[in-house]
Amino acid sequence: MLRLSAMKIVQVALPSPLRRCFDYLLPVAMTMPAPGCRVRVPFGRREVVALVVGEPTATEVPLAKLKPILAVIDQKPLLPDALWRLANWSAQYYQHPLGDALLQMLPVLLRQGESSTAAAPQLWRLTPRGMALTGNDLQRAPKQLVAWQILHEHPEGLGERTLMALGAARESLRALLSKEVVELVSQPHTLPVITAALAEPPLTLNAEQALALTAITQTQPTFQVSLLHGVTGSGKTEVYLQAIASVLARGQQVLVLVPEIGLTPQTVTRFRARFRCLVVVMHSGLTDRERWQAWREAAQGEAGIVIGTRSAVYVPLLKPGLIIIDEEHDASFKQQEGFRYHARDVAVRRAQLEQIPIVLGSATPSLETLANVAAGRYQRIGLTQRAGGAQAPKVSALDIRGQRLQDGLAPAAYSAIDQTLAAGGQVLVFLNRRGYAPVLLCHDCGWQADCPRCDAKPTLHQSPTRLHCHHCGHERRPPPSCPDCGSTDLRPMGVGTERLDEALTERYPQVPVLRIDRDSTRRKGSLAAKLDVLQDGKPAILVGTQMLAKGHHLPSVTLVVIPDVDGALFSSDFRGSERLAQLLVQVAGRAGRGEFAGRVLLQTHQPEHPLLQVLLQQGFVASARVLLRERELMALPPYSYLALLRAEATDEQAPLLFLQRARQYLSEMATSCEIWGPVPAPMTRKAGRVRAHLLIKSNQRSTLQQALSALLTALDALPESRRVRWSVDVDPQEMA
Ligand code: ADP
Ligand code: ZN
Ligand code: ZN
Repeated sequence: MLRLSAMKIVQVALPSPLRRCFDYLLPVAMTMPAPGCRVRVPFGRREVVALVVGEPTATEVPLAKLKPILAVIDQKPLLPDALWRLANWSAQYYQHPLGDALLQMLPVLLRQGESSTAAAPQLWRLTPRGMALTGNDLQRAPKQLVAWQILHEHPEGLGERTLMALGAARESLRALLSKEVVELVSQPHTLPVITAALAEPPLTLNAEQALALTAITQTQPTFQVSLLHGVTGSGKTEVYLQAIASVLARGQQVLVLVPEIGLTPQTVTRFRARFRCLVVVMHSGLTDRERWQAWREAAQGEAGIVIGTRSAVYVPLLKPGLIIIDEEHDASFKQQEGFRYHARDVAVRRAQLEQIPIVLGSATPSLETLANVAAGRYQRIGLTQRAGGAQAPKVSALDIRGQRLQDGLAPAAYSAIDQTLAAGGQVLVFLNRRGYAPVLLCHDCGWQADCPRCDAKPTLHQSPTRLHCHHCGHERRPPPSCPDCGSTDLRPMGVGTERLDEALTERYPQVPVLRIDRDSTRRKGSLAAKLDVLQDGKPAILVGTQMLAKGHHLPSVTLVVIPDVDGALFSSDFRGSERLAQLLVQVAGRAGRGEFAGRVLLQTHQPEHPLLQVLLQQGFVASARVLLRERELMALPPYSYLALLRAEATDEQAPLLFLQRARQYLSEMATSCEIWGPVPAPMTRKAGRVRAHLLIKSNQRSTLQQALSALLTALDALPESRRVRWSVDVDPQEMA
């Protein structure tokens, strides 16, 4: 090793799958960039954007081999200290290369090296001349008058996007600028968050909501995790809105995370309607430039509220005051590939680093969160009543043993639909299976269509007629006759949303039947258009998948039918029962949110199944208690910690061989972790690759972390690791 006294060396993190940082020389002409600044460096044959991590005290690379930094891009670190620490924590906890984790936190344009200084915030404000005007002076230009009035109320000045959010038009500002009534000034530091007034009055909280609000809003804000456990329709959102108001009033910003399918225009409208401040939305549909703009508005403090999906957990805020995670149990908070973080858990860590409160809201909290409440780490706040007086729906099992089903529905389900429509209500049929039918079968010999690339059956879709594998995306036309026996009697078996849609349309020609799934809502705006049809409250039938399970407010739906819960009752995934309970309660929660009580029918061959029994008779909390007890007995999360090592390859043997080596390393390390496997993955062949799993478990987080760090270093160096595609998933949510 070499002591570095004269030579300046910079350590950087860069986008590479290697789990380490890299050293570069700092040319004499350059000043040492602070940690968190971007630099441009040569890497292999490429030139990449990297982030400065620090100055190493020693380097293992011979000085002569060190390459110089090409350019320093930033004068100031891009990320505030808390986020920098959050990134380091995340990379370590999820065993992901730091450079990749850090760079994934940045908008694409910054990752590509775009300058961050060009976009220093600018403020519009009245000139002395503008201050001296009165409303009368602008009578003839009503739009300019609006802009002038807003600025008059905010003599300290406002950012352009905030002004627009408050109702000023850009053209009016330009016109006022040319009249020297307003001026545009660079504002190197912070932009004010606009809070003075609400755009609409808050609702009067009921007693439970009021208690919840006091428990969440603190006079001396510090780190505190609250579970807002409110039944569907209990007015959690109203509690969030009022908690947000008090944070904004302190001049601080709020981060709101919602599930992927929860980020509907309805949600955003609700936030925008309430506050007179800039509300920015971050989701995967933004262009790179829009994303960067939203990021900047959050980082520079102009946005009062940032609403986003999973990745927004890493958006920097200048003055963070509160984090809210809506539907905290939702699976979409976990990233399923690459950097496999869980946004809820990262958010809790972030709140701790920023020393601010965080609220986890749900009608069906995850078992992890409930265990944290039981352990006294989180405070639980309950909302037990529906707000605005709506009744809780009545849920019952519909025993379909021996019943003749037509298109998946039993006679009793049809009569419930008949009655509901006759009474002027709307019906939701929830089926989490899109397409026409899950299987195409030869009635003469029993042949079933397969996916050529997966151990799975492709789904039959109509219009256009296709066999479509939902696992790998493979599509083909169905064969005209059976490839085994030549029979042309090929029949669709089972029911998907497309078939249900067709059957219900034929049976109920007098009412609109609307299908909501990924296929029927591909076109932009088509989901909103369909939901619009329901707003008049007239009889209608809705057929939908998971997309409908949350967020939507469907006040006229008074009957929910769930044709098939059996598959989920026997899921091989240990989280299957938890997911089913959550889904059933969430879907049931769509019913009777208006003035009429709702009912929910679950079709099942297993009406005596213990989970259904507890759920129907005692509700979600009781079921969660039973499930937690089971997890404790089996020492499964949240009573232990898991990491799943996955490997896949086109070569049949390679994944198992690789995982056997991993197992061997772990045994040599003498870790106290339990090791299960390697075993073939539940769907062994997927997209033409063979897959295998190794599960590592410990009752101590730190033991698992240590074992993983050592294991991954060893695996990275292993030649076999290049023959498979492999990954590690800490706290895996799906065992597939
Ligand atoms: P959740 O988020 O818990 O599902 P929401 O916040 O969407 O519930 O509230 C459900 C309905 O009740 C909404 O229409 C909302 O406007 C209404 N609501 C909420 N709080 C109140 C209140 N305090 N008084 C009257 N109506 C309320
Ligand atoms: Zn056949
Ligand atoms: Zn496939």
